[in-house]
Amino acid sequence: MSLTKEDKLRMDVVDGAKAIFKKGLVEAGEGNVSVRNGKKEEFFITPSFNQYSTLTKDEIVHLNFDGTPLSAGKLPSTEAKMHIAIYKSRPKVQSVIHTHSTFASMFSTVRKSIPIIMEEMYIFLGGSIDVSEFGIAHTEEIGQTALNALKTKNAALLANHGVIVCGKSIDHAVKFAELVEKLAKIYWGALQIGEPKTFSNENLERFEKLYESLFANYPRSMRGKKG
Ligand SMILES: [Zn+2]
Repeated sequence: MSLTKEDKLRMDVVDGAKAIFKKGLVEAGEGNVSVRNGKKEEFFITPSFNQYSTLTKDEIVHLNFDGTPLSAGKLPSTEAKMHIAIYKSRPKVQSVIHTHSTFASMFSTVRKSIPIIMEEMYIFLGGSIDVSEFGIAHTEEIGQTALNALKTKNAALLANHGVIVCGKSIDHAVKFAELVEKLAKIYWGALQIGEPKTFSNENLERFEKLYESLFANYPRSMRGKKG
């Protein structure tokens, strides 16, 4: 039996959710994964109280950008409003992932940004990983605080909460969620043994060109407001 286009998107959410669960970036019942439904103002998101290990495509919730369910079944993730805020402001974003991965969450609690310490960090994520203002979970407000911290980039820390990433595909978003946690571990470890160094402007310009051509997904209107 061949899957419909919408079933394939539901499967993308399931596969992405299981990937971040297997990597230990979320525990059962926390975090969320979504994909946009093509050019429509709709998306598919993991359900509230998602158990990950037993997740099936029939549990994935189809919503429009008002938050109205377009399918019967489970309740959507309580962070759906944050995903909606990002899809509305960043039209090229096809997937959003939120995790509570441990090392990144540690930095979010002390509200310490992760500076540009690795080449891959700039190329995939667009620069430093900054911390948002504190926003109450499950509100539209946290969506706006996430966007303010993301600026033109693909990852940010949510103050005293966790991680938000966005990508041009589910594969990109999964990769970014993994990378944020890896970078947080590296930075944490580096701080124990010395002072991490950053790159020359010449190198940063080279990384930026790669970011712009491969992974950037912010609107043209934001050019010149780079963070
Ligand atoms: Zn959360």
